[in-house]
Amino acid sequence: MTNTNNLFSSWEVLEEEIRRCVRCPLHRSRKNAVPGEGNKKSVVMFIGEAPGATEDEMGRPFVGAAGKLLTMIMESVGISREGVYITNVVKCRPPGNREPKDDEIEACSIFLKSQIALLKPKLIVTLGNIAGKTVFSMGKREWVGVMKMRGKRYELTIQGIQIHVIPTLHPAAALYNPQLRSMLESDMKLVKSFIDEITSSMKSSTSDKTKPRTLLDYIK
Ligand code: SF4
Repeated sequence: MTNTNNLFSSWEVLEEEIRRCVRCPLHRSRKNAVPGEGNKKSVVMFIGEAPGATEDEMGRPFVGAAGKLLTMIMESVGISREGVYITNVVKCRPPGNREPKDDEIEACSIFLKSQIALLKPKLIVTLGNIAGKTVFSMGKREWVGVMKMRGKRYELTIQGIQIHVIPTLHPAAALYNPQLRSMLESDMKLVKSFIDEITSSMKSSTSDKTKPRTLLDYIK
């Protein structure tokens, strides 16, 4: 089931299609495709590069050592992992954990684009260089490398949706490097403060709509 842009218009069909996908050679070596998981009503989406060995084994994203570090850092700044949606640029593990190739990313992009169109996030957090490069390319914006782009907020239009994007490092890079880990922590604080901004603006727009209108509202 696809819409006029040929994107998947239902989560169930999308996930089923990913699990049986043979669009690129990565399907040959996978144990399990990893569509993504989390809150499908969230306005916040985290995007990594590709599943690793543990993710391939379990069919779930960010459950290995890097995923555990990510979850720990998210929770240390007050972001609930269950509250966001997490996925990867490619949904099957590249052999030996190599980087996904451009043609694999291109073949898989229909799934990520569909996930973005279904979720309509207000904020995307990209984890690592490949995720940042892919999302900026979807937003037709220049990408000059994760170390130059990280730790700032950008506004992109993807699938006709205006989305804020905060690029940061991949947690795997920060596993054994204290300096990179403190950069990841600092970027995650920026993510948390923007989530707070979004939450309070959503609350105030809801309470504006529900506020009883007085005569003064009509004659202003
Ligand atoms: S990586 Fe993506 S395009 Fe390639 S087989 Fe897996 S789901 Fe299909």
